[in-house]
Amino acid sequence: MKYFKPKSIEEISNLKSKFESVKLLSGGTDLMVKMRAGVLNPQIIIDTKGLEKEKIEFVKEKVKIPINTTYDDLLNNKEFQEKYQMIVDIIKQIGSPQIRNRATPIGNVANASPAGDFLLATYLFRGYAEIKPSNKKIKISHLIHGPGKLSLKPEEFIYAIELRERKGYRYYYEKVGKRNAMNISIISIGMLLKVKDNIIEDIKVAYGSVGPTVMRFKDLEKEMIGKEFSEKVFEEFSDKYMERINPITDVRASAEYRKKMVKNLFIKAFYNI
Ligand SMILES: Cc1cc2nc3c(=O)[nH]c(=O)nc-3n(C[C@H](O)[C@H](O)[C@H](O)COP(=O)(O)OP(=O)(O)OC[C@H]3O[C@@H](n4cnc5c(N)ncnc54)[C@H](O)[C@@H]3O)c2cc1C
Repeated sequence: MKYFKPKSIEEISNLKSKFESVKLLSGGTDLMVKMRAGVLNPQIIIDTKGLEKEKIEFVKEKVKIPINTTYDDLLNNKEFQEKYQMIVDIIKQIGSPQIRNRATPIGNVANASPAGDFLLATYLFRGYAEIKPSNKKIKISHLIHGPGKLSLKPEEFIYAIELRERKGYRYYYEKVGKRNAMNISIISIGMLLKVKDNIIEDIKVAYGSVGPTVMRFKDLEKEMIGKEFSEKVFEEFSDKYMERINPITDVRASAEYRKKMVKNLFIKAFYNI
């Protein structure tokens, strides 16, 4: 195995396209675990930390999170804390202080696990990935096709993530099941909600760990808009989400349990949001 730590985007891109079995390394908290477990065995490792770390940038109603930004960098950023409170709460539930000190949001997105906590946030905050060297921006929900599957060309990599602010929204986030290096959460839910005069003005709902990637159903969200913010409506829609989502059984939980939790978490969100 060969290790490189290039200092420029061009070098990363050239190396990446030159070799077949190649992996980028940012914080390494996913990659190293997989390599130690023998799940991955790349010939070439390209450390992204050779690139200079850019600042987290706030432009209009968006934030740009550049490559090598860690979770701690986001947690320690005052503007991010104020504008993205829900994501701050989500990040605080990722791993441990040691993990948050090393790990990066880009690594979480690139890992493309349906249990990725930051990944779920990108589905709610209109997340886009800035790709180098092409400079194109791809909606993250379009970039990811399944666990570990990204539609990137051999020379391409994620350079930044862009999120849009959600002003005036209440939020709820919960993940069920403990996670450690080798285990993933059983199910998670993230909800953003705007209510006016007890009527749902807008709602965004994303589930983690119940499909090949994070799941969001915009048609159901649209259907809820204009309805009363009531237990009855949430009960009705919890059934619709349960019908729509077909999780699998794995070592962590059965499909039946996960399906029931889809409903329960939806109702729980009503009381806690
Ligand atoms: C003890 C422990 C607890 C954890 N707890 C959680 C948790 O609660 N929730 C959670 O979501 N995750 C958790 N994780 C997983 C992990 O910490 C996160 O997914 C983290 O965000 C990964 O970031 P990283 O920078 O370490 O990624 P890395 O390991 O460096 O990379 C992850 C993957 O992305 C690829 N990659 C990296 N950078 C790029 C790039 N710029 N472009 C394209 N591909 C790239 C790598 O090749 C690799 O395949 C945990 C891990 C450990 C070890």
